[in-house]
Amino acid sequence: STVLAGYGLVKKYGSTTALAGVDVEVGEGDSLAIMGPSGSGKSTLLHIVAGIVRPDGGQVLLRGERSEMGVPPAEGWGRIDNLGENRLSALRRKRFGFVFQSGQLLPELPAEENVALPLMLEGVPRGRAVSRARRWFAPLGLDGLEQRRPGQLSGGQAQRVAIARALAVEPDVVFADEPTGALDQRTSDEVVRLLTSVTRDQGAALVMVTHDADVAAHCGRILHVRDGLISGHSQYTVA
Ligand code: ADP
Ligand code: ADP
Repeated sequence: STVLAGYGLVKKYGSTTALAGVDVEVGEGDSLAIMGPSGSGKSTLLHIVAGIVRPDGGQVLLRGERSEMGVPPAEGWGRIDNLGENRLSALRRKRFGFVFQSGQLLPELPAEENVALPLMLEGVPRGRAVSRARRWFAPLGLDGLEQRRPGQLSGGQAQRVAIARALAVEPDVVFADEPTGALDQRTSDEVVRLLTSVTRDQGAALVMVTHDADVAAHCGRILHVRDGLISGHSQYTVA
């Protein structure tokens, strides 16, 4: 069942139309890859459904959100594209996880504290946050690396710590923008395999932007974007 949807999404930057009217839906435990040439609108689409960029047209709906007036919306859905900035940033921290290409870990903190940080921002006391953070290390093949600082990790290990951090608050949706863009092919394959499987096991949806068809093939569905429009869909049955 659908957890996040965007309908009729439009975004303009001056005379550039980054998105020209795009629909997207993602279900609980599903993974969606957004592919397309550079400048086609992939990042803009991800940023809009993640509540980072506001659309000029269309709506973004999230299940389980209450409307601005505090009234439960029809069938448990709420619009999030028109929320105030404070509500939106609270919602992002609580219900969304983010994985970027690289450089997202704080270099002075051990891996486990990097993972615990989103929990501490949600008010979980440090000790409990760190013990909850540690639970993600084994499933992501990071056993024994809890105390390492990001500079003492390989690129693939650092991305797996970033995945643990994105999952720490047990979000409904994980957004990944070129999560393997800085990795070699073998490492990239291992990282995306873990990202898709651990996210699915958690029951969260995954929305990922990638240039790499081998990476996209790990997702259940692929949305092809060209010139700000959907140019095609592919469906995979992920083993
Ligand atoms: P992609 O992720 O597919 O490379 P983007 O979504 O980043 O594409 O960009 C789509 C188009 O919108 C491009 O022409 C890009 O230059 C433009 N664009 C994106 N963000 C901005 C911005 N903040 N200001 C101006 N133009 C932007
Ligand atoms: P990506 O490779 O992921 O598309 P970019 O390097 O194109 O990332 O963009 C990085 C950031 O700059 C994004 O937040 C994007 O919205 C913004 N951006 C992209 N194109 C432009 C532009 N033409 N003018 C201003 N900002 C832009």
